[in-house]
Amino acid sequence: FGLAVTGGLVSSTGIAGFTLGGGVGWLVRRHGLASDNVTAAEVVTADGRVVRADQDENPELFWALRGGGGNFGVVTSLEYQLHPVGPQVLGGLIIYPLEQARQVVTGWRELTGNMPDELTTLINFTTAPPLPFLPPEVHGTRIAVLVGMYAGDPAAGEAAVAPLRTLGTPIVDLMGPMPYTGMQTLLDPLWTAGAHNYFTSAFIEPSDAALDAVLRHHLTTPSPSSELHLHQLGGAFARVPAEATAFSQRDSSVLCNVIARSPDPTDFDAQIAWARGAREEIARHGRGTTYVNFTGDAAEDKVRAAYPGAVHERLVRVKDTFDPTNLFRLNQNIRPSKAA
Ligand SMILES: Cc1cc2nc3c(=O)[nH]c(=O)nc-3n(C[C@H](O)[C@H](O)[C@H](O)COP(=O)(O)OP(=O)(O)OC[C@H]3O[C@@H](n4cnc5c(N)ncnc54)[C@H](O)[C@@H]3O)c2cc1C
Repeated sequence: FGLAVTGGLVSSTGIAGFTLGGGVGWLVRRHGLASDNVTAAEVVTADGRVVRADQDENPELFWALRGGGGNFGVVTSLEYQLHPVGPQVLGGLIIYPLEQARQVVTGWRELTGNMPDELTTLINFTTAPPLPFLPPEVHGTRIAVLVGMYAGDPAAGEAAVAPLRTLGTPIVDLMGPMPYTGMQTLLDPLWTAGAHNYFTSAFIEPSDAALDAVLRHHLTTPSPSSELHLHQLGGAFARVPAEATAFSQRDSSVLCNVIARSPDPTDFDAQIAWARGAREEIARHGRGTTYVNFTGDAAEDKVRAAYPGAVHERLVRVKDTFDPTNLFRLNQNIRPSKAA
């Protein structure tokens, strides 16, 4: 129908957990998080009731569901505000070699301050897979991949995207008009099911020191499919008032996601240790906060890092109302005040 709401960057990502934790994707700067577009939810609560949550009915539950994760009940339906998107958009990848990674990422940082909301980008520090559109000598080498989508008229997007093509000398420039549905599945071949994954993240400001830390950890990725992503935020995402939803971290300009990923469980603990070490250092360049959906740990300090201060206290009050015995606890848990 030519209508869409923010979805995950990999099309197999389920919408329920994705939305309840926030939901970052190619429309985030144009239309906000997936959770920013939820207008109502139906929830089966811990005591077996079926309740509706929206601005008028159970408004505190509605607030908590938009960022607070799966803590408050089983969500059996979500209603979203949809937006006209595409069907053609301008999107794709521009792949730069490791030697140009620093100039590319610092140039990207300068451009992000003036990008239109229609354009959402990320830089993926990864290892070149053996794909036919890459020269064989590049396979297995570290690269910096600029991925982006302009969610408007593709012809108008050309001017916005042009400076991204000249941040260095690309190995290959695969940015062009494509269907929105093609953009939504572009990364799927690199994310086949069955791999071991550990995500950990930090909201940061991309100072020179922060980018140095990211580049340093890119050089020590423990497997070819382990990578670091810098997600550009701002735009519609940043204009949502912090108190409007439980996803309250609106003022950072970049979200760094550190991903350990491998098809082979051997030594995966060491890969997790790499991701944790990288995240710890990179998080120093922000307020130490994290995105709950990019958090492989359910440890309390990570939950607190996702919901700082008063937000956590408000979530506990909603939890006390809707799940006082902590039935829903196998998650990034908001512990009710009276549960052990
Ligand atoms: C390959 C991959 C790519 C990803 N890409 C992105 C991305 O681009 N952007 C982004 O923001 N996140 C991304 N994520 C993270 C993603 O948002 C979370 O993994 C999210 O939990 C996925 O939602 P799901 O419905 O598949 O959750 P599941 O894995 O099924 O469940 C995870 C948790 O979510 C809660 N939950 C799920 N369904 C319900 C429900 N119906 N009612 C109540 N609680 C529920 C529960 O607490 C559950 O334990 C990605 C994850 C992966 C593995």
